[in-house]
Amino acid sequence: MSDSREVVRGLLRPQFREATPYGAPQLDVAVALNTNENPFELPLEVAEAVAGALREQVPHLNRYPDREFTGLRKALAAYLQAQTGLSLPIESLWAANGSNEVLQHIMMAFGGPGRSALGFVPSYSMHELISVATGTQWIAGRRDEHFDLTAADARAQVQEHDPDIVFLCTPNNPSGTALGVDVIEAVLAASRGIVVVDEAYVEFVRPGTPSALALLGGQPRLIVSRTMSKAFAFAGARLGYLAADPAVIDGLRIVRLPYHLSSLTQAAARAALEHSDALLANVEELKSQRDRIVEGIASLGLTPVPSDANFVLFGGLSDAPATWQALLEHGVLVRDVGIPGHLRVTAGTEAETTAFLNALAAVQR
Ligand SMILES: *Cc1c(COP(=O)(O)O)cnc(C)c1O
Repeated sequence: MSDSREVVRGLLRPQFREATPYGAPQLDVAVALNTNENPFELPLEVAEAVAGALREQVPHLNRYPDREFTGLRKALAAYLQAQTGLSLPIESLWAANGSNEVLQHIMMAFGGPGRSALGFVPSYSMHELISVATGTQWIAGRRDEHFDLTAADARAQVQEHDPDIVFLCTPNNPSGTALGVDVIEAVLAASRGIVVVDEAYVEFVRPGTPSALALLGGQPRLIVSRTMSKAFAFAGARLGYLAADPAVIDGLRIVRLPYHLSSLTQAAARAALEHSDALLANVEELKSQRDRIVEGIASLGLTPVPSDANFVLFGGLSDAPATWQALLEHGVLVRDVGIPGHLRVTAGTEAETTAFLNALAAVQR
């Protein structure tokens, strides 16, 4: 057994030989606050609409799906118009099985051997992993000690490294920090390549925090990616999307596998988008649980990072792995993101949030 491991390890691409797969532990616990999911199940009427849409597709599964997922792109355009007031042509929209696949398409088309991608860490670790998986050199840029990034600092790092691709994540996972439009504009101005703005948590921002979507007109190098996994409560369905110049979409079409979005996925996502108001109904509640977490953590003498997302990163722990374990023993699963003295917790239902705050108070005593 150990021999075959050695043989296979030697055959792996060199960048993967020491690598471990991405993955938060999927443990069976009472209160799972570790992957930034929406804790609310689909409302019954939405569940039934999705089930009905799937049922309609089943007899036709002998056929390949619509490769261009036109109906889904129309539904995404209608949703974005309702949410932001921007009217985006469907030629400027793309979707895939989760925004992770969207990001993979971007990196396959615009990254690759001999090219580099810069991200400002700590940030979403998949940006690095997808870069490495596509043979793109990863450059770990910096944030300040409050996990913030100013326009001047971002500009200086882009000029220093001259990357082919820049990742911006706003609100940033794991810190919850949102970026000003000035930062995105500074990066666009300083760079010569693709700028990816990952807005997975955009529906949770506090009032006045802008989206990069408004910058799209006349910016062929800008890509804004989003997902139905978080605010939409649709993580299990796997649907991420992006908006960009139609020429960018043409580039992505070259690298995607044909028929990458199954008829079932397209139908489920369309049905969900028709009920977006119902699915997003709990966003305000989750924002208030997030704010409750920030206050509760601060009152324990720990240091929460102000958050525009549905999770809170907090520091001030003397031994974060020990606190993680102690919380688990209280039935609460949070995320150790590998930042010394820090843990990240997702906003849950009111009861789950209470369970977390009580457990944290007990283990801090
Ligand atoms: C959760 C998350 C995603 C989304 O992943 P999906 O593949 O759409 O489920 C993308 N970006 C960030 C920063 C995330 O935290």
